[in-house]
Amino acid sequence: MMLSDCLRYLWAAPATVVGLAPAALACAFGATVRVTDGVLEVAGARSDRLRRFGRSSRRRGGGRFVAITFGHVVIGQSHAVLDELRAHEHEHVRQYERWGVLFFAAYLGSSAAQWWCGRDPYRDNRFERQARAAE
Ligand SMILES: [Zn+2]
Repeated sequence: MMLSDCLRYLWAAPATVVGLAPAALACAFGATVRVTDGVLEVAGARSDRLRRFGRSSRRRGGGRFVAITFGHVVIGQSHAVLDELRAHEHEHVRQYERWGVLFFAAYLGSSAAQWWCGRDPYRDNRFERQARAAE
């Protein structure tokens, strides 16, 4: 691992730590862990409880939980779903590498700005538009 890689992981680490709690919870409910391109992918929990987490998540069918990214942790409904959404969620990983823990505030700020302008706070969020462009 190069120094620049270490710094990217270190800079995103506070967000990654935030993601480890729901990831551990998911594992307690039967989820399994894979590592893809240096990202921890957690999926397959047999519980609906994690669906409450909405931030930076990919939604379909009226807000149904599908996947969410915290730093270098991606939590999804199934590994099949994560295979399908990898380009999108890994773009969020790169956003965390750029913004670090500031990403939470930046993401919410972008949602608030879109809402203020009468647009959709999720779909029109600049980070979501960027992630969709990466698909
Ligand atoms: Zn997204």
